[in-house]
Amino acid sequence: MKVLVINAGSSSLKYQLYNMTDESVLAKGLVERIGMDSSILTHKPTGREDVTEVSEILEHTTAIRKVIDMLTDKENGVLGSVDEIQAVGHRVVHGGEAFKESALVDDVAKAEIRRLFDLAPLHNPAAMMGIRAAELNMPGVPQVMVFDTAFHQTMPEKAYLYAIPRVLYKKYKVRRYGAHGTSHDYVSKAAAEYLDRPLQDLKIITCHVGNGGSVTAVKGGLSVDTSMGMTPLEGLMMGTRSGDLDPAIVPYVMNKEELSVSEVNSMLNKHSGLLAISGISSDMREITEGMENGDANSTLAFEMYEYRLRKYIGSYAAAMNGVDVIVFTAGVGENSVVLRQKVCEQLTYLGVELDEALNAIRSGEPRRITTSNSKVDVLVVPTNEELVIARDTHRIVLNSQ
Ligand code: ADP
Repeated sequence: MKVLVINAGSSSLKYQLYNMTDESVLAKGLVERIGMDSSILTHKPTGREDVTEVSEILEHTTAIRKVIDMLTDKENGVLGSVDEIQAVGHRVVHGGEAFKESALVDDVAKAEIRRLFDLAPLHNPAAMMGIRAAELNMPGVPQVMVFDTAFHQTMPEKAYLYAIPRVLYKKYKVRRYGAHGTSHDYVSKAAAEYLDRPLQDLKIITCHVGNGGSVTAVKGGLSVDTSMGMTPLEGLMMGTRSGDLDPAIVPYVMNKEELSVSEVNSMLNKHSGLLAISGISSDMREITEGMENGDANSTLAFEMYEYRLRKYIGSYAAAMNGVDVIVFTAGVGENSVVLRQKVCEQLTYLGVELDEALNAIRSGEPRRITTSNSKVDVLVVPTNEELVIARDTHRIVLNSQ
């Protein structure tokens, strides 16, 4: 079965075409600047030269049509005809409490996603546009939604409820949902596989640290706690997000600076985190460079980022009464040798013993970075959210036939 994976944002659309016989990627690409003057389609057929096409793409339906044209193009395509695409998988950010796992797209599911627009106003409408666009371009082809929140639906009440009036949960579903679920799910399973140990027996802490970041406590294969909350603002310090803070700061600052709700939202989501503290960048590469050049603000930004990540690891070891495996993944987790080193150096109380030579190796494969004496295995596992979407789509479509 050939499965097209779609990750639609408000002005962008990423795609990957899988051949599920061997889970190989036939092509992938990205449409950027949808709705703007000159949209850019970058198409990457596996093993061949990238192709870039600039045109006017006003909305997602045209974007998917252009993608299909490219996938079936005589010169740059990888398909004889669009009919070869037998299923489409969509990334959907928020599945609320309704979706505990990936689901086939039907009218009921679409109505539920619309109800969730309130909880994910930036992301879910974009996913819905992607679904509509795929339906219009590939009528009759089954579609599946894969949710960032679904993996965390196993969290117990004591972990997902906020200590605020219960009526807010009853009326508005104010609770913690978490995010990056497909990634935490994938890397925890991949870690157990790499170690050749049963997932059911393991206490794993997965650290997905990229532009956004979250840490999850995975016990026996289930998410029992995660650092992101009702929205992706809670938890770790991130590229441009503040992460945890005293909620009383919000009304205090709004009052002092006469800020509106949307202004304070923007401040905490877009102008905080590494960017705010360093005053330079939200990109960990630039922060690291600043630190190496002796820039005090970059050094402070790095130290705060590392310290907060390490505190979450400690708290999740406490939540699970121990930890067997710690996994680093995503842009920063997979690439920052120095971040992993600084975190692990302060986890000796858990029995972590870092192997500096292993930590310095770069490879696209799962690997251990601790010594054979280490009580906890620390791994780097490259994440692959698209593959999870393709696998779920394949399985659900096969089961529905
Ligand atoms: P997203 O959350 O947008 O999916 P990624 O997981 O791709 O982000 O992570 C992007 C971040 O990874 C970049 O902002 C950058 O800070 C970080 N990154 C990428 N390469 C390196 C590197 N070699 N060293 C440190 N950080 C890196």
